[in-house]
Amino acid sequence: MSSDCLFCRIIAGELPSAQVYADDAVVAIRDISPQAPTHILLLSRKHVASVRELGAADHELIGKIIAVGTELAAREGIAEEGYRLVVNVGRNGGQTVDHLHVHMLGGRGMNWPPG
Ligand code: 5GP
Ligand code: ZN
Repeated sequence: MSSDCLFCRIIAGELPSAQVYADDAVVAIRDISPQAPTHILLLSRKHVASVRELGAADHELIGKIIAVGTELAAREGIAEEGYRLVVNVGRNGGQTVDHLHVHMLGGRGMNWPPG
């Protein structure tokens, strides 16, 4: 836990969030500024700054995050129509919170290429 990290503080319950899922490795919350009808953030419970910081021991963690996304997409009713999983990495990638997270966006058609 990093006390100056927004998502660590949300995971610790120090700051409020609309939590939709939690287990020992993954916490999922609704994005505060949704960019689609469904916009969920899949957070690692452990503080990792970005996917750039993932070590070999974390490969299972990223797998679990994706698996939770699959489960939540079904629960949200967007699995059949499809959805998008996004990881922003670093400044050019558009990352604004330095705590590992995967966006799950759905409920509308997505464009390609992304902005
Ligand atoms: P990034 O740009 O780092 O990939 O994504 C960070 C996401 O966190 C953004 O989509 C932003 O809207 C969301 N976010 C920022 N602050 C908060 C907050 O306090 N609560 C929640 N639930 N989401 C947040
Ligand atoms: Zn953190």
